Amino acid sequence: MVIVVKSNRLRISLINLLLISLIIGLLVNDHNGISTSPIKTTCNDYSIILMIGDGMGFNHVKLARYIEVGKDQRLTMENLQLNFSVMTHNVQQLVTDSAAAATAMATGYKTINGKIAILPNGISLPTILELAQEMDKATGLVTTTSILHATPASFMTHVDSRNDYNEITRQIVEEVEVDILLGGGKKYFSSVHLETMENKGYSIVENKSALLAHTSRKLLGLFADSHMDYEITRNYELTPSLADMTQKAIKILDQNPNGFFLMVEGGRIDHGSHDNEKDLAALEAIEFELAVRKAVSYVKKHSNTILIITADHETGGLTIVSDNLNETIPQSSFTEEQNRTIRINRVNQIEVAWSTGGHTNQTVPFFALGEPFENLTSNLLIDNTDIFTIMHDYYLEKEIVIIGRTLVVVSPIKASTIIISISIVTSCIIWIRTKRKTKQQACIFSQQQRHNESL
Ligand SMILES: [Zn+2]
Repeated sequence: MVIVVKSNRLRISLINLLLISLIIGLLVNDHNGISTSPIKTTCNDYSIILMIGDGMGFNHVKLARYIEVGKDQRLTMENLQLNFSVMTHNVQQLVTDSAAAATAMATGYKTINGKIAILPNGISLPTILELAQEMDKATGLVTTTSILHATPASFMTHVDSRNDYNEITRQIVEEVEVDILLGGGKKYFSSVHLETMENKGYSIVENKSALLAHTSRKLLGLFADSHMDYEITRNYELTPSLADMTQKAIKILDQNPNGFFLMVEGGRIDHGSHDNEKDLAALEAIEFELAVRKAVSYVKKHSNTILIITADHETGGLTIVSDNLNETIPQSSFTEEQNRTIRINRVNQIEVAWSTGGHTNQTVPFFALGEPFENLTSNLLIDNTDIFTIMHDYYLEKEIVIIGRTLVVVSPIKASTIIISISIVTSCIIWIRTKRKTKQQACIFSQQQRHNESL
């Protein structure tokens, strides 16, 4: 449903709508609760892979599709069994940043821009990664940005400002025990920090061959001083791709008999889109798709795992204007260098337009794969906090409740020089999926395994 409101009562309407949003948001979030339940009593081997394309709107996916498989085909992520649209507004504004959006997905609570897993009033929010740790699952965070950047940070730390890298680093080194951390951000770790990490059992790797050779269960990979190189300039010998890092992380995390939580971020789709550089954005989105293929391949063989692919927000207001694409598409039999050349040629055969150098409040994609999603209705509109709820309820073997939302658009609103529209939550539960078989057997196996390991 789309409601268009045009009147000089706009201010009242907006306030009302924001209040409705807050009330409903609280009601919906109450489903999650800031959990203090005895998690340890729940024992299963369920795993979650959450993949976030930073800044990846529907048209970024479309652009990647045009280049990688052709206009009439579908990417692997588009072919998954379930797809929704996701609203991304934060608790206060229409346009979110990565910190508020990642906090919503990691904790089930909306906050304001810049906050890392805390509410505007400073209350820390338990994250899905911390829940996984309480359940003795292995955990991993993988990104092409600095590992301290807003998205990964929101799953493992609690910080008042996303820019407080000293505090984020301190928490990672002193308080957080994420098993696998792969990305950039080397310059933020002092030699003392790195020594502390080694003393805690981490192996530290800095290049692709060291990563691929590694087998230990605790791994810190720092492949750049700040963000990792864009895919368009990546050195294929020295620097792992997002797909390489994803595959390695899954392989290590899979060794835990109690399952795992892994968040993988294609972090630089956003950066290329801020600069309105279609080749940068497109190749980052394609690299994200290649990482998705690694995860899909794993999940198809592991019925105790779900895969969720989404974005934190759209960046750039990207649209595809026209194209004159030829028939040559990348092939697995070609070298990486050949495929990169083909991709760049194809990007240049597509004309795009951008509406902004910032983020937008467009809805973003959600694709999912896994046993609980079988036979679910696609094409619903959900909220980014619902992603936490789905993951939380999956781990705790609860019913997975999908809340179909209604987009209420109030437009046009002139704010500064930008015309914006507002997405507000009104919601009704339109589908309930009862969950699966018990995993008691796996639980017994896990305890037996631990017993054996301790002998
Ligand atoms: Zn951004």
